[in-house]
Formats: sequence, C-alpha cells, structure tokens
Amino acid sequence: MGAAPSAVSPGGQCGVRRHDKQTQALVTPPLALQYLREGNDRFQSNLASHRDLLQQVNETRDGQFPFAAILSCIDSRTSAELIFDQGLGDIFSIRLAGNVVTDDVLGSMEFACRLAGSRLVVVLGHTKCGAIIGACDGVRLGNLSTVLALIQPAIDMERTVPHHRDSGNPEYVKKVTRIHVERGVERVIEGSPVLREMVAREEIGVIGALYDVDTGKVAFLGETFLLGEATLLDLSKRLAPAGGVEQAPPPGPGSGAPAPGV
Ligand SMILES: [Zn+2]
Repeated sequence: MGAAPSAVSPGGQCGVRRHDKQTQALVTPPLALQYLREGNDRFQSNLASHRDLLQQVNETRDGQFPFAAILSCIDSRTSAELIFDQGLGDIFSIRLAGNVVTDDVLGSMEFACRLAGSRLVVVLGHTKCGAIIGACDGVRLGNLSTVLALIQPAIDMERTVPHHRDSGNPEYVKKVTRIHVERGVERVIEGSPVLREMVAREEIGVIGALYDVDTGKVAFLGETFLLGEATLLDLSKRLAPAGGVEQAPPPGPGSGAPAPGV
C-alpha cells in the first residue's frame, strides 16, 4: 500500500484540526489515512484532543467538510469519532450491525465522497463482534437474519478451518471477521461505479481496518488499500476465480455462548 505521507499535515501538528473547504481540498487519501492513524494513536494513549464542542457547533453551522467516511459496526464500543479522536464535522460515520455494505451504505459513501468531498472510505470491523459471532453460529432472528446473511459470504470464503466452525473457536471467528472486512472493501468497488471511478482517478482511497476492543487499537489492513487504477486491476485479478480450492464443510451448530457485543 502507499504508506502514510511524510509531509507534515496542514496545521503542522497532531491534535484538533479544523476542516474547511480549503483544508479539505488539500487532503489526499494517504493524508486522510494519516489523520486517522494519528487520532487513534491519541485515543490509545489517552491523549484525546480537548475540544470545545459548542465552539465546533458554531464553526460548522454553515457547512461540513469531513475528510473521511467510516463504516463501522453499531457495537457501543466502536464509535468512529471516539476511537479516531475526531470532532464535529470531521468524519462521516456510517454504522450498521456487522459493518455490512448494503446499497444504502454505498449511497451514503457516495454522498460523503462525491458530493461532500471526503477523500477516504474505511470499512472498519472489530474483534468480538456479536454480528459476526451470530453469523458464525447460524443465528436467525427476525430482521437480524437479513443482516447476518450479508456476512455469510465471508463464512463461505473461510476455507482454512475444517472443524469447529462456530463461535467456540475464536481463531475461526477472527478469520471470518478479517475476510468480512476485506470483502466489504471489495463490495464498495463492485457495488459503486461512482466510487470505483473516484478510486481510479485517485480522488479517494478505500481501505479496510480492524478495531481491537481489548486494546483500543485500529489496525489498518494495508493490503486492502485501493488508490489508483493499478490497485483496482490487482483487485480484479485477486477476485478472478482461483479454481481447485476445496469447499469447506458447512458450519457446525452454534456454541450457545452469549454474544459479547454486536
Ligand atoms: Zn460488531
């Protein structure tokens, strides 16, 4: 992936940045990624920026110029503004159980990037995700079943764990979680010609990431970073049918353990 740029960010330091039309225009996708890395570093170090939120209300009342759009889970521990230490008007936050990429989510991302100028889309999964756990256990419950069905492709794609394919196997859950995030990045490109074109023109980047609820750390998945035509070509090659891969056995019955989170 393109590493975070070495250039000093506008403002010259970590901490609160006020985003307006001018500063937003200067943000590149790698710089947006750097802002998020810096914010998560502050969060992990318990050095969250002091923000006068009422002042931010005043500063943003005439418009918003967020630099990134983040899809995360509804889990109460995964608020994007908090874990990336961002304030009012800084990021678009899209949240659905299991950070699933639906058409509505894609529409929100298109608004954020094409109409509101955001330069980076993040698909953010997290550890101990109840939605992933539920999907691994084949849970069915009202409308939640529709959401969990959107995680099923990741379960089908996980082919390295032959046995104990349920939430009783944390390693399996971890692998499905990661595949689901990778798949989410692919879905953004497959499902949105608008965003795909913007990635090709290097107007935006798309990346997957995983948040660890034990440590507060966000790990960006560098190999999922899409920026420019070449990365899209690489992606389409990866998505080409590999063939010859044995299908894993179907998931076993659930462990019956309560889900620790959404
Ligand atoms: Zn979750």
